[in-house]
Amino acid sequence: MKKDTRLIHAGRSKSYTGSVVNPPVVRASTIVFDTFAQLKHATQNRGNRVPFYGRRGTDTHFALQEAICELEGGAGCALYPCGAAAISGALLAFLKNGDHLLMVDSAYEPTRSLCDKLLAGLGIDITYYDPQIGAAISSLIKPNTRVIFLESPGSLTFEMQDIPAITAVARQHNIVTILDNTWASPILCKPFELGVDISVQSATKYIVGHSDVMLGTASANEKHWLQLREHSYLMGYCASADDAYTALRGLRTLSVRLKQHGQSALKVANWLAQRPEVETVLHPALPTHPGNSLFQRDFSGSNGLFSFVLKQGSQQQVEAFVEGMAHFKMGFSWGGYESLITATMKVQNLRSATTWPYSGPLIRLHIGLEDVEDLLADLEAAFSRFNQAS
Ligand SMILES: *Cc1c(COP(=O)(O)O)cnc(C)c1O
Repeated sequence: MKKDTRLIHAGRSKSYTGSVVNPPVVRASTIVFDTFAQLKHATQNRGNRVPFYGRRGTDTHFALQEAICELEGGAGCALYPCGAAAISGALLAFLKNGDHLLMVDSAYEPTRSLCDKLLAGLGIDITYYDPQIGAAISSLIKPNTRVIFLESPGSLTFEMQDIPAITAVARQHNIVTILDNTWASPILCKPFELGVDISVQSATKYIVGHSDVMLGTASANEKHWLQLREHSYLMGYCASADDAYTALRGLRTLSVRLKQHGQSALKVANWLAQRPEVETVLHPALPTHPGNSLFQRDFSGSNGLFSFVLKQGSQQQVEAFVEGMAHFKMGFSWGGYESLITATMKVQNLRSATTWPYSGPLIRLHIGLEDVEDLLADLEAAFSRFNQAS
């Protein structure tokens, strides 16, 4: 089955859908049993998509878990109330007091905060590493290194990681690898084929795709699934059936949406690269991007999210740029149908293991599904405001 066809069928087995097209929303805390034998069967199979108690999920959740496994290639998938919970859940499932964690320096900022403000306090030793380290990560491994966390491309700055080089080293040392795979969604990168043990998604982004639900997933390979599942259950992580339903519906159009997001974003990226105010465009699908060969090797396409760095720009100029846009809304998150813009004055504040090479402000764009000509006109006007401000 080809990728687009798989998206249509994933998680839609007759046992979940019954006689309708979409798996219905099954809301439940209590599951009731007619016989003691049924209760016993459910108890014994409560981790294996057999209804047992609401926190373990209903058929709506099972359909989504199955769909994510089919698409990403994992052996099992746990659901979380948001992507940040999936990240904390995956990390805490494999780390304990006294362990060492290798965390990528370009990680999503709340992931860094989780490490510095919570994991460090639990007695977990954290070393940030250069996203472009590749196989040289072996030099950072200590006897107590338990987890290597990756995110590729990096949040905000889009460095590509050599995922298979890092997972190969991790396997030699029996270290668990966790990848924040949100940028790729479940279809642009095959994390388990690249040797990753756990793949995390903020389903809030492209899976849901309409900026109206918070949801997270973590999928694991066979070797790590039981531990992830049991820890997630012990921590009480779960998601609502309504949100699982919305994610399933979002999945059906994921591929066509991504194609349009990706195509428009490349147009905007190439347009920006020609602007005299722009120092560099941070988009891994551009041939000029330092990670382009890794991108070509490991990814089957791109999406609507990338950044660019201005040669220079005062706070006032950046404010003039991002305020007053007609189509780009100012705000966090991404992956919905709408275009978004955010600005970061000092990327170096988000780094500890590497030196950020640019001094100008960074602007991150999410290119939505509007007509790209309207978006280019919006950016053209933003540059005029920028150049008139001081
Ligand atoms: C948004 C995001 C998250 C967090 O997901 P939420 O659903 O907002 O909690 C994690 N990683 C990346 C790369 C993200 O963009």
